[in-house]
Amino acid sequence: MKSLKFLCDAMLGKTARWLRILGFDTFYTAAPHVTDDDLLKIAKREDRILLTKDKSFFQKARRDGVVSVYLDRPSASEEVAELAELYEFKEKLISGANNFSRCPACNGILQVVSREVVNDRVPLGSLENFDEFWVCQTRTCGKIYWKGHHWDNITKELEKIRNISRIKYLKDEHNRISE
Ligand SMILES: [Zn+2]
Repeated sequence: MKSLKFLCDAMLGKTARWLRILGFDTFYTAAPHVTDDDLLKIAKREDRILLTKDKSFFQKARRDGVVSVYLDRPSASEEVAELAELYEFKEKLISGANNFSRCPACNGILQVVSREVVNDRVPLGSLENFDEFWVCQTRTCGKIYWKGHHWDNITKELEKIRNISRIKYLKDEHNRISE
């Protein structure tokens, strides 16, 4: 199966972060100079599924032949659960395979490194308490993550997404996707 690639509109920042945490290549920018037309071009060029909270943009994308999904759930967790249903990645969501392979901040690839590699860039307390660190490979980002860093919130939220995704959404999804 071809791996899924997404593009989130500017209103879907949280959803984009979650998709990245789950390991999906997800384009997102909040830069004000990026127009809807730019997003459509990127989606086409990079073969990304466009996700949007804007119904008229969804319709425009559909007219333009861009695969897109109109998301209007009240929370990012529900939106991710809905996508898991639509694109059949519920199993992956539940197993956690590929989680934490991408940087939630920039979409870069995360590499697992040992304490020694990051010992000059991580607070001493964290260095002492954790032995696994992830470093973003994008040079302009380079963020470092470890399990103490918001970890409880992330795992709680993931559990919430899993629970929602266990409830099967009614099959009104065909109205939501255009291909
Ligand atoms: Zn990064």
